Amino acid sequence: MFSLANKTAIVTGGASGIGLAIAKRFIAAGAQVLVVDRRMDGQKTAQDIGAKFFRVDVSEEKEVAGMFEMARTNLGPVEILVNNAGIQPLGVGFNQLTGELLRRTLDVNVNSVAFGIKHAAHALATAGRIINIASFVGMLATPGAAAYATSKAAVIHLTKLAAIELAPRQITVNAVSPGTILTPAVTEIPNNPEISFVEKRTPLGRLGMPDEVASLCHFLATDEAAYITGQNIAIDGGLTAGWMEYALVPPANVQNGRWVDDV
Ligand code: NAD
Repeated sequence: MFSLANKTAIVTGGASGIGLAIAKRFIAAGAQVLVVDRRMDGQKTAQDIGAKFFRVDVSEEKEVAGMFEMARTNLGPVEILVNNAGIQPLGVGFNQLTGELLRRTLDVNVNSVAFGIKHAAHALATAGRIINIASFVGMLATPGAAAYATSKAAVIHLTKLAAIELAPRQITVNAVSPGTILTPAVTEIPNNPEISFVEKRTPLGRLGMPDEVASLCHFLATDEAAYITGQNIAIDGGLTAGWMEYALVPPANVQNGRWVDDV
């Protein structure tokens, strides 16, 4: 396993789903981890996996600044920031979109990443790592995702902007875009139609697991990933690679596996 020994990481939204899997994986690779989350039960979850905990709402800049201060005071210099916390108000199209929903989604999913990058620029050690969790819907337009997909497209672009600005300090900034992953946000929706819909359209024929996203984040956090920056890496079973079904028939020019120019 690639080592994260002597590294300290902050994982936002680390009390559930993908963030929790990332925190566990980082700890298994030797890192000290500060889980930050707004969940009341986050303290116990963090304690159970051997992480420290700090309760924050990542949409508030002063709380994001506070999480770096808390990490520095209790754990020492921070090398890795994973901006994972997010809300997923899917199933809301433009006709139902309210200013309130749009503002909250952008505050939690985008402002948190922007503030995280802003404060990481000062707080992260040289050659640090920032990993932003985006989504396949940040690349692929889908109905009912007006606020959410907009927020994730913004995360992908913020990633490129930050990679450029932080390159002089050798800090890498990458986005990870999962397909549909089996986390509480997906499985706790009764009869969630997304599950069978995405399963059917995913070339590898199944949804992803939080641990699989954590593996990619783990590699991006290591010293070995020092030359990868400004990228958006999909981890989606091939979902955004192309269409599974496409109706095509060969033209008359194709005869017995050869191209015949004049037919
Ligand atoms: P989850 O709901 O299981 O976990 C999200 C965590 O973020 C929760 O612990 C929650 O309390 C925390 N959080 C939410 N708002 C917060 C705030 N304002 N301040 C601090 N913490 C806050 O969700 P998940 O499925 O593990 O999603 C994690 C990330 O992955 C999100 O950014 C999500 O958009 C993204 N994602 C998920 C999927 C999927 O299919 N599960 C797919 C693509 C992208």
